[in-house]
Amino acid sequence: MQTAEIRRRFLEHFEKRGHTVVPSASLVSPDPSLLFTVAGMVPFIPYLTGREPAPYPRATSVQKCVRTLDIEEVGKTTRHGTFFQMNGNFSFGDYFKEGAIEAAWSLITTPVDEGGLGIPTEKIWVTVYLDDDEAAEAWARISGLPEERIQRLGKDSNYWSTGAAGPAGPCSEIFYDRGPEYGPDGGPLVDEAGDRFLEFWNLVFMQYERGDGEGKEFPILGELPKKNIDTGMGMERVAFLLQGVDNMYEIDEVAPVLHRAAELAGIRYGADHDADVRLRVVADHVRSALMIIGDGVTPGNEGRGYILRRLLRRAVRSMRLLGVDGAVLPTLLPVSRDAMSPSYPDLATDFERISSVAYAEEEAFARTLTAGTALLDTAVTQLKQAGTPQLPGAQAFQLHDTYGFPIDLTLEMAAEQGVSVDEAGFRALMTEQRDRARADARAKRSGGVDVSRFSELLAQHGPTDWRAYETLRTESR
Ligand code: ATP
Ligand code: MG
Ligand code: MG
Ligand code: MG
Repeated sequence: MQTAEIRRRFLEHFEKRGHTVVPSASLVSPDPSLLFTVAGMVPFIPYLTGREPAPYPRATSVQKCVRTLDIEEVGKTTRHGTFFQMNGNFSFGDYFKEGAIEAAWSLITTPVDEGGLGIPTEKIWVTVYLDDDEAAEAWARISGLPEERIQRLGKDSNYWSTGAAGPAGPCSEIFYDRGPEYGPDGGPLVDEAGDRFLEFWNLVFMQYERGDGEGKEFPILGELPKKNIDTGMGMERVAFLLQGVDNMYEIDEVAPVLHRAAELAGIRYGADHDADVRLRVVADHVRSALMIIGDGVTPGNEGRGYILRRLLRRAVRSMRLLGVDGAVLPTLLPVSRDAMSPSYPDLATDFERISSVAYAEEEAFARTLTAGTALLDTAVTQLKQAGTPQLPGAQAFQLHDTYGFPIDLTLEMAAEQGVSVDEAGFRALMTEQRDRARADARAKRSGGVDVSRFSELLAQHGPTDWRAYETLRTESR
């Protein structure tokens, strides 16, 4: 089943059940505390927290998401993309646990020729929170799953809250058993890597009001007067299961880029593990960059722009490592556009703008990549000879400042050669540079007048450290 068809079926299923179909919000998060939209619930935060009345009791969406926190997993696990689509259904004080479980179960197990996803029931396992008997009983009643396939998991995986006082509650997750060739029996409870039992849908039951607390330790103040449902089904995960391929980088929306990259490199996908990981990284990052630029972001040194830059540069460098030296985006980006535009037609009409942003970034990187790599290689050789395998912060700073190497790229390249980086030293130099720039700007602007108002503004809106935004609002990881 093609990804676009899964999307269609999902939305139709929930529309028939009285949900208003809401278009995806931008990847640029509508919630100012996040850089990117990281989950389907983000655009609905005002309704879920009760800050604003919901304009409809039920909603459904296919939300574009970016999770930079997952970047290191990409290509190595079967299931983590930096960009992915979360299919969701939401209830704002309307139906609750039973309704959410029933609707999910029915979509998953209804046969394909009757409009469902046709997943065999014997493949399905679910988890509920430790003391959530209500959810466990609802699952048993609605699905008829045997008791051992309804497992109980603790706070780390099956409890959701915003991270601060406000709504909180237990989750229930749905898993697909890929079979004994992917790991031992025993369900999600024992399969921590998630290779055999693949999580594909998370149902969040916003049931309680929580107080202040550290991490997962917080008091429950009572039941919410209006209980909400927030669910997220990973489109790519369902697609890879239903398309009979091995991972999310091989689905219809991603694979064409992967195969074109292999062709460019003159290699066969599936022949070598490390090369396969690189090809999957390329396919993932090219698609994410396409979608992020599509939503108006341009490469830069901070915030979203920095993440976009990192994705593009990581894709380009991965192709270098596969032996391709020339420009790769003019070949790969149009392939990604063609794979994505059936669901996102704007990518096609807007492609001239999108591609010129991407190609300019690749050109800028190409100008410094070779020289920067040579500098790093020389430094690494010297460090190893001296028996001090840590790259000084000053050199990481030079790579950043003169050669445009994002710090993560330096970290990654150094680690490949068994060398660490003095990150604290690097950050201190970055701060120094930033302070200097601010002082210069102040000196230019002031002309002897009181500039305290400007520094206040700068403090409020000034250069942001993108790392601060990496925290997910959902704690149900
Ligand atoms: P995992 O444990 O596999 O990292 P998660 O628990 O962090 O997933 P949730 O926050 O529960 O994920 O998000 C809801 C659903 O979104 C997941 O069940 C999954 O299907 C999908 N999803 C989450 N992160 C990704 C990702 N990086 N790439 C693709 N799909 C994802
Ligand atoms: Mg989850
Ligand atoms: Mg999880
Ligand atoms: Mg996760």
